[in-house]
Amino acid sequence: MKVVKFGGSSLASATQLQKVLDIVQSDSDRRFIVVSAPGKRSLEDTKVTDALIKYYKAYTSEKDVTEHQEWIIKRYQSIIDELDLGAKILEKISTAIIELASLPIEHNDFLYDAFLAAGEDNNAKLIAEYFKKNGLSAKYVHPRQAGLFVTSEPGNARILPSSYDKLEELIDSDEILVIPGFFGVTIDDQICTFSRGGSDITGSIVAAGVKADLYENFTDVDGIFAAHPGVVHHPHSIPELTYREMRELAYAGFSVLHDEALIPAYRGKIPLVIKNTNNPTHPGTRIVLEHTGETIPVVGIAGDDKFVSINISKYLMNREVGFGRKVLQILEELNIRWEHMPTGIDDMSIVLRERELTPIKEQEIISRLTRDLGVDELEIEHGLSIIMIVGENMKSHIGVTATATKALSDKRINLEMISQGSSEVSVMFVIKTEQEKAAIKALYEAFFN
Ligand code: ASP
Repeated sequence: MKVVKFGGSSLASATQLQKVLDIVQSDSDRRFIVVSAPGKRSLEDTKVTDALIKYYKAYTSEKDVTEHQEWIIKRYQSIIDELDLGAKILEKISTAIIELASLPIEHNDFLYDAFLAAGEDNNAKLIAEYFKKNGLSAKYVHPRQAGLFVTSEPGNARILPSSYDKLEELIDSDEILVIPGFFGVTIDDQICTFSRGGSDITGSIVAAGVKADLYENFTDVDGIFAAHPGVVHHPHSIPELTYREMRELAYAGFSVLHDEALIPAYRGKIPLVIKNTNNPTHPGTRIVLEHTGETIPVVGIAGDDKFVSINISKYLMNREVGFGRKVLQILEELNIRWEHMPTGIDDMSIVLRERELTPIKEQEIISRLTRDLGVDELEIEHGLSIIMIVGENMKSHIGVTATATKALSDKRINLEMISQGSSEVSVMFVIKTEQEKAAIKALYEAFFN
């Protein structure tokens, strides 16, 4: 039994939906279908979710909403017309879109979520209708009916563990169930969404709930590439990744799957495969608990920019009890998250994302480190990128870092910091952002060509 999730680009038009139908029809194990809202048909197009945000803004600022309602309804209508689904479903969707503008604005923490969720909710209704018209025994199921209960955290819901037992009951259904992704229902019966891109999370939760044999996540690429295709020309798609490798790659810029989506499938020990709706015979990337055979030491190379490093030096730092704690306490008091902390004898660097700082916070860090901790040298360095080579099998290979540093030095790339955790799933290099692309290319060349 398989849970299948289709992303927005797989559902953007009638042509895409025909591919989805073929995929579902070609395998009778595909019994639970989780869907996103219609995505972009072209680069310039607008996602339905983004159109709903505009609609929400107009409504809450008491502007005329007609134009927004019409745009969204037309978006569904063009798919309905092309698939010849009839007036009834269009009527249902139009009413649902229009009725959003009668929800209370005051004292309604979940209003934004209700607007956003309408994208997937109406798409699920449409798709169930389309499946039925083509002879499949299919049914639309609202998350409330499915038992997908979540915490009351608007825009950032988390699944309530009790949901899993309820979801398990779905197994008994004889029909193909079409479930809207991206949102659940709180105990007080409010619509509450996961964070953006959260339909992947729904798919993973449903897969864990019904104890699926496989969670198939259909997108518009042939799986996870070993490096960013915008940087490396035609990188290969990785056949198999472990959850830990995926987590490392996702952290450093691989955004094929929502990173929270891995958790339910991982805990439920459900294998996951990322596949391409436009090329369904391609095996895609399997994400597994442990590698099934011999694998190469490095499976992928990731890179991400917009990092900052706070570089601190103080003579005899290593003898000062509590120094590290005091530094981190300053960051904690300023509500700043940090990511890495490479150290020397008398120096430490704290690497964090650019978005954690504001000019005021920077000034505060500088003055407190100088005044309270008496540091000798202090610099806040911007414009940094991190590059990661990732692979669980690095553990059993000698010379992986040597290969990487040789490749980088041949391209005259200066390594500002290097860090490898004890789990040896990845090695991280901090470099200047202007050298990021060259570094990724050099590493891809060294490990894969
Ligand atoms: N439609 C939502 C978004 O655009 C969720 C999703 O597609 O996964 O964020």
